[in-house]
Amino acid sequence: MMQPQVAGDSQDSAAPEGMARFSHVEKIDANDEFIRNAVDQADLPALMATLAMITGDTAMLAPDLKPPTPPMMTVIAPQGGMPKEAQEEARRLAVAALIKFRDSGQQVQATPPQALIDQCVAYLVRGDLDELRPLLEHELGITRDMGAPAWTLGDVAPNASFRVAVIGAGVSGIAAAYRLQQSGVDFSVYEKNDEVGGVWWENRYPGCRLDTPNFAYSLSFAQKPDWPQQFSRQPEIHAYLATVAGSAGIRSKIRFNTEVDAMKFDQARSCWTLSVRDASGAVTQEEFNAVITAVGILSRPSFPDIPGLGSFKGQVIHSGKWPQDPQLAGKRVAMVGTGASAFQIGPSIADSVSQFTVFQRNPPWMLPTPTYHDDIRPGMLWLLRHVPFYGRWFRFWQFWIAVEGRLPLTEVEDDWDHPISVGRANEELRQGCLAWMAGQYGDRPDLLAKVTPDYPPAAKRMLRDNGAWAAMLKKPHVELNTTGIEQITATGIKTKDGALHEFDAIVFATGFKASDFLAPMTITGRDGRELHRDCWAGDCRAYLGITVPGFPNLFMTGGPNTAVVINGSAIFSSECQVEYAMRAIGHLLASGNKALDCKAQPFTDYNTWVDAGNLKRAWGAARTTSWYKNSKGRAAQTWPYSLMDYWNITASFKPADYEFTR
Ligand code: NAP
Repeated sequence: MMQPQVAGDSQDSAAPEGMARFSHVEKIDANDEFIRNAVDQADLPALMATLAMITGDTAMLAPDLKPPTPPMMTVIAPQGGMPKEAQEEARRLAVAALIKFRDSGQQVQATPPQALIDQCVAYLVRGDLDELRPLLEHELGITRDMGAPAWTLGDVAPNASFRVAVIGAGVSGIAAAYRLQQSGVDFSVYEKNDEVGGVWWENRYPGCRLDTPNFAYSLSFAQKPDWPQQFSRQPEIHAYLATVAGSAGIRSKIRFNTEVDAMKFDQARSCWTLSVRDASGAVTQEEFNAVITAVGILSRPSFPDIPGLGSFKGQVIHSGKWPQDPQLAGKRVAMVGTGASAFQIGPSIADSVSQFTVFQRNPPWMLPTPTYHDDIRPGMLWLLRHVPFYGRWFRFWQFWIAVEGRLPLTEVEDDWDHPISVGRANEELRQGCLAWMAGQYGDRPDLLAKVTPDYPPAAKRMLRDNGAWAAMLKKPHVELNTTGIEQITATGIKTKDGALHEFDAIVFATGFKASDFLAPMTITGRDGRELHRDCWAGDCRAYLGITVPGFPNLFMTGGPNTAVVINGSAIFSSECQVEYAMRAIGHLLASGNKALDCKAQPFTDYNTWVDAGNLKRAWGAARTTSWYKNSKGRAAQTWPYSLMDYWNITASFKPADYEFTR
């Protein structure tokens, strides 16, 4: 047994040396009544697993207390669907365990036995534990950091001189840099901005916050148990990423304000030459053995192709490049777009402007999320800060319920004949969302008609709604205009009915050039072939979303067909990609080869499989435009299967899929 450190010291055995230590355990000096009230606000399934692990008392895991975890519907069943009596019994046991834990001086087992951890995992999840174990251990990270490379340069190729370039210092770039550092391979990170964080640094518009539950939207190797909200705000997430980069010791390896314009593969020497432009505009050529791109897909703002766009004399703002002080107060403001960014900006600025007009082309589907803006309840937060490992188990639980998430609700059923939905479950989701909207707009049938989508839910990104959007639209100085934009003039926006609407400022919440993966870099691979021009031609594809034939030793994160739509967090996919790249590099070094290049057959087979999967999903089948589809109409962004599937295909590096150069 060991005494946990208190008040800000880490109790987290999995946090690697030098890595961000987020798992703080504070001393419990609360009385019984306080503990009882805290437990009333707890997430019970994760608490029972935590208490069983730290006390060794497996009564917490009794079969009648196991959360049944019904399939995720429009609204997620609270407490994993535990019946009321089970919840009451769980609370009683939890309070007694916590009081005992406090009275014993917060004694915890230094290393919980694996069998006990397995029992706790089995209490939360369903399925074949042996099959699931590697994935689950990776996400839980209690015994060790499972995503760390299983090799070091010193072990596999002590005399090799091998350098890797990482392009981008957002979530994926930080993960890649950290893993490279763990392996001992030399690397440099290039970042076009003056700070880490990627989209979480660039997107600083009012109201910017997560729409994926925060605990699972965090790195497995840098878990933070006390997020202030379930959907935290941009400053919080950026601060987290900045702390991770700092604690991981990778900041000194990042060259800020530096952009990679081009890279070219030297076939004779099996290395990449990068054209690197610094803040002064000076371009240098730098050589690397391998490259990991981590440039994101939602970083290059897209302005719509509307005639007269450049003629507007007022202020023009894009959501992705929000000015520090836009001075919109008291102004007549237009906002074009009703996607995820608009949904957060609108309610945040509407009250301060004199007139606000939202130009909507297609309304979004909204997932009812009444607690979207809420803080984590004080009792829950207290438990996260005082009960060792509760944050880990809560993150694990959040991850687990999203492995499948609402994916089954997006399935296309061939025998389903409906003008809007694509299957029975999709129709159920539609009805759930319609009922929520009817509740929001019951007093405004005119608005309800305008905000009701005529395409299947999940064909585009679904948005989180707590009523803030409807409340905004109902304000007297706010208008939802659905007439369609014809032209932008010097003074405003002309709609298709011929009316001219005058504004002082136009906010474009019109998204990003998502289909232009890796643009504007030019990337020249084997035989002088340029990736965008000669290989993709507007239809990006990659093997596992990571490698492309003809572009050896180039690994992508956030590549084609890796975006999760309705299950899980982008950070999970990103970690899978980074860890796959590390396995590939480890294999390359250990085998004494200089380059590995994806073979054509696995690439083709893989893409055929992914395309077939997307056509069976609402976003692939529906005739709707969105950033999920490219100009050819193919769903080039989306991952159509479960997180488990992506884990399985990326969990090992298969040399047979690659050609090697010595
Ligand atoms: P988006 O989802 O691509 O939405 C763009 C919006 O602009 C759509 O409503 C689109 O309408 C509209 N639009 C485009 N051209 C138009 C035109 N000519 N006239 C009128 N409307 C036009 O972009 P986004 O909102 O920036 O979000 C992009 C992605 O970023 C999201 O899907 C999400 O993955 C991510 N994101 C996440 C968060 C978060 O986690 N909190 C927040 C913001 C963004 P149509 O629907 O008709 O095309």
